[in-house]
Amino acid sequence: MTVIVAGGGIAGMAMALTCHQLDIPVVVHESVSQLEPLGVGINLQPNAVRELYDLGLREPLEEIGVQAKEWALVGRNGNDVWAEPRGLDAGYQWPQYSIHRGQLQMLLYREVVRRLGSSSVVTGSRLARYQSHADSISAHFVNEADETAEVQGSVLIGADGLHSAVRSQMHPDEGPPIWGGPVMWRGTSQAKPIRTGASFVLVGKLEQRFVCYPISQPDPQTGLATINWIAELTYDTAQDWGDGDWNTKVPIDKFLHEFADWSFDWLDVPELIKGASDVYEYPMVDRDPLPNWVDERCLLIGDAAHVMYPVGSNGASQAIVDTRLLGAEFLRHGVGPAALVAYETATLKNMNELILRNRGAGPIGILGLVEERCGGVFERIEDVIPRKEIEEYMSKYKAAAGFAVDSLNDAPPTISL
Ligand SMILES: Cc1cc2nc3c(=O)[nH]c(=O)nc-3n(C[C@H](O)[C@H](O)[C@H](O)COP(=O)(O)OP(=O)(O)OC[C@H]3O[C@@H](n4cnc5c(N)ncnc54)[C@H](O)[C@@H]3O)c2cc1C
Repeated sequence: MTVIVAGGGIAGMAMALTCHQLDIPVVVHESVSQLEPLGVGINLQPNAVRELYDLGLREPLEEIGVQAKEWALVGRNGNDVWAEPRGLDAGYQWPQYSIHRGQLQMLLYREVVRRLGSSSVVTGSRLARYQSHADSISAHFVNEADETAEVQGSVLIGADGLHSAVRSQMHPDEGPPIWGGPVMWRGTSQAKPIRTGASFVLVGKLEQRFVCYPISQPDPQTGLATINWIAELTYDTAQDWGDGDWNTKVPIDKFLHEFADWSFDWLDVPELIKGASDVYEYPMVDRDPLPNWVDERCLLIGDAAHVMYPVGSNGASQAIVDTRLLGAEFLRHGVGPAALVAYETATLKNMNELILRNRGAGPIGILGLVEERCGGVFERIEDVIPRKEIEEYMSKYKAAAGFAVDSLNDAPPTISL
């Protein structure tokens, strides 16, 4: 019987490709009537890239992604706090890609349609509710004409993101996402890549920061690439910034003045902001860890299960890894409740810890230490924090997020066929 997937985002599409690789019938139901390449830049960590390569997506990823070479934290005065190599340069067997979220989703969607056929993705089909039975599960979907269709399957995978309907049914008392104060403005602009040419750079302090990294190769004529940027400020939580919509467009005047004097000889923040045609506002929200993701024949994955602050570049990466870990359990236990429980047992505790770690600023928490120890003003970072302390901090984060170099390189494939 079929695996029913609610949600055609990155988790839902990767789930479909994984099921297909395992010869498991699968259908994805996506609420929007037409998938479009929405969002801006994200990073795919080597643990997720490994899984996408195992799905045969090496070539198309190489076409649309930029192999990240460096991850750097820079103080407000322009001095480096920390810089480390990333991807292949850091010794991983797989690269880290900086990539446009929408292009990645469309790549996965096209591959699902090419490999499984167009009937494997039903658009304009929103999950309303589900009901588990002894040997099957029924999922009720509503189309744009407000008609309901009941679909039977062996399991239902809730990959329906931040505002998951599957999660609301499973945990009806939970309430809306939680906002802790930071607001992000995101956009892309054409500019020359800085530092290594493929660096993720974060400038500033915890309460006010600016991130940028290229998500396209530079144009050979002009040297300009598409630079993804995020400007971020922390507000008093008494204010109301909504409960998290990735597609709210706002004028740049709303926040540009806050970054007006952020010009360095190597990076002109105001110019980069002004170069964007569209800017999206997003209050950084997450949800509290859940005690369970499984309800009989239904399982939550991706953001529906463990949405977290996007400070460690692991939301999309983890969504992909989830589908592969679940696929491995399907191989071990067959497609049914035992596989769902085995997946939950192996994954839930780590993810719940990661949600809280990211709420505490994840890898960029180092900036908090710099503030604490010298008010953010320093000439040489070694005089403020010993290098070894930062190294240990970063290693702990990578281990918690599942992309410590040695353990990833040494691990057998998640799915061996
Ligand atoms: C439009 C959009 C833009 C985004 N932009 C960014 C970005 O710029 N930067 C960033 O870091 N992250 C962004 N994200 C979040 C990022 O994609 C996720 O954190 C990560 O990829 C995990 O993906 P997911 O598949 O679990 O969830 P999502 O990517 O959120 O996908 C969930 C999918 O489920 C669909 N859906 C929702 N409810 C239902 C329902 N009831 N029935 C059926 N389908 C449903 C949604 O339309 C969506 O396609 C964006 C998400 C979305 C939806």
